[in-house]
Amino acid sequence: MNCPVCHQTALVPQELAPALQVLHCPDCGGNWLSRSNMEAWYLTQPERQVDLASPTPAHAESDRGEAKLCPECHRIMLRYRVSAEIPFYVDHCPCCAGIWLDQDEGEQLRDRALLFELPRVFAASLQRTLRRQESAARLDELQRKRFGGERYARIQEMREWLSTQPHREALLACLSEPLRKCS
Ligand SMILES: [Zn+2]
Ligand SMILES: [Zn+2]
Repeated sequence: MNCPVCHQTALVPQELAPALQVLHCPDCGGNWLSRSNMEAWYLTQPERQVDLASPTPAHAESDRGEAKLCPECHRIMLRYRVSAEIPFYVDHCPCCAGIWLDQDEGEQLRDRALLFELPRVFAASLQRTLRRQESAARLDELQRKRFGGERYARIQEMREWLSTQPHREALLACLSEPLRKCS
């Protein structure tokens, strides 16, 4: 998986806090927090008192700076302010619920004990992601029944291959119009 800032640099696994695995960019110092790593880490943390009197709203800030693409699912990430106390914005993927932290932002959040706030700040988005994945799993099951296991396996194989290809739309159009000559 490559860095969403440096593009060509491969991210390497690292520990940002005890039990919190991230993917780190050795060039720009950014860190990628995947949903599954965040969840695994969250479960190792003791219960904490959540101050409901002062929730930390996340404000979408998509217009600041150049938008980054999610290193996992390649969707455009949205920028959010995690807390009024910190001066920077973090990039959050609305699709896979991963979080990108530039340069030393991860360390800053860790040192201010704000890392634990991330899953709470993005809880609504995480729920949407889970709901979407649930309905995706249901759809998967329905299609498997409709087309039969073997055919569906081929469709999935093709889907996977397509997702790695440039000019996906053109390839799809080409597939669905086999009688027309494709250039
Ligand atoms: Zn980088
Ligand atoms: Zn994503």
